Amino acid sequence: MPDEFPAELKFCYWGNPILRKMAIAVENPESEETNDFIQRMREKLKEHDGLGLAANQVGCDRRVCLVAFPKEDDYSEIKALINPEIIESSDEKAIYEEGCLSFPALWLKIERPYKVKVRAFIHGEGEAEFEAEGTLAEVLSHEIDHLNGVVFIDHLPQIRRVLLSKELKRIAMEHNDL
Ligand SMILES: [Zn+2]
Repeated sequence: MPDEFPAELKFCYWGNPILRKMAIAVENPESEETNDFIQRMREKLKEHDGLGLAANQVGCDRRVCLVAFPKEDDYSEIKALINPEIIESSDEKAIYEEGCLSFPALWLKIERPYKVKVRAFIHGEGEAEFEAEGTLAEVLSHEIDHLNGVVFIDHLPQIRRVLLSKELKRIAMEHNDL
């Protein structure tokens, strides 16, 4: 079965139900359709300037995400991960000041595992298993969460989410045709 990708990528914000959808596995990670989709996702990430982007943030329900890997002093090597999963997480946690392109101008302190082990098909490289720590582990967790319909506010304690409800409503109203 060929994988289906949207003809046009539309940026999706909080309030759009696709952010709550569990994405479907890509059948052919090396097909022309997949290559083309990844190329278009890369352009979107460049436009929006972030450290990562999940397919459902651009209106596609397939398990693909882009993640910025460290290169020299910068997070400038963008890799496309297909069907990624976290297979191990450390008990050790770290707190990160996090943002999400689907929640413009919202920065939150989020607790995540300090280290993760990921299995994925890396576009242009092949099947891989690797460990990551610190910021890279944070971005990987954030993007892979997206593919499972999970967003960063889900990691907040209930009380903090309640305090944010007005702000979340504002984001949804401003960025969706509700
Ligand atoms: Zn995000």
